[in-house]
Amino acid sequence: MQTNIPVFQAQKLTKQYGRLTALNGIDLVVNKGDFITIFGANGAGKTTFLKIAAMLMAPSDGTLLFNGKLIKEADNNARKLIGFIAHDTFQYHNLTARENLRFYGGMYDIRDLDKQINIRLEAVGLLKRGDDLVGGFSRGMKQRLSIARAFLHNPSILLLDEPYTGLDKNASEMLNSLLSSFNNSERAGIMTTHNLDQGYDIATHVAILHRGKIMYFNKTKNISKNDFSKTYSEIVG
Ligand code: ATP
Repeated sequence: MQTNIPVFQAQKLTKQYGRLTALNGIDLVVNKGDFITIFGANGAGKTTFLKIAAMLMAPSDGTLLFNGKLIKEADNNARKLIGFIAHDTFQYHNLTARENLRFYGGMYDIRDLDKQINIRLEAVGLLKRGDDLVGGFSRGMKQRLSIARAFLHNPSILLLDEPYTGLDKNASEMLNSLLSSFNNSERAGIMTTHNLDQGYDIATHVAILHRGKIMYFNKTKNISKNDFSKTYSEIVG
């Protein structure tokens, strides 16, 4: 019997944008129960890494494995494992929030989709606005909808790119509580953020991505927030 197969693994991931090397040989192993926060300055490569991990972009080189299985190209079964909260919210502005979720949910075999949509809309505080066009939503409301969508198919691995951006205090607390109930020994997450408190407090592991390379990786139980902050300053400057 095989045990301890990582839920996600990146091996020597490289991404070139023309002559610019955005990612330079990223190796990362994510086991069930891990929640990894990646810190890094603007332009460090965080979004590029998450887009590749979400299979929205192909790497120039290197490989991805989900549950030990090598992913050769965008793979629908692997996609079903992933929930992605991204900057660019992938929402149709001429559809309502509910229609957006229905459209997205249709790509996954979600049972009781309408019921699930109501549960997710309620969780992010958008139930009353569910039948309004997304084009009229504020930035924070779009981000809330993005969170509802990421959780809709009950993913095994959440990828979160600066998920607190645009959220007010209540919505940030809502996200914290969704993440606390999401995190368990069967699931995993990778988050990028610039916010040390939010990023460190929720993580089992912290990483520093600098100029396309992972320069630091540790369990949060092995480094205090204060020491991590100093390490970050030393590496990133
Ligand atoms: P931020 O914290 O500002 O969001 P980031 O760490 O997410 O930054 P990326 O968005 O991954 O960084 O960008 C990494 C590098 O790749 C940057 O130098 C950026 O200019 C470059 N880059 C990103 N996307 C593209 C693209 N589509 N075409 C060309 N260069 C790109």
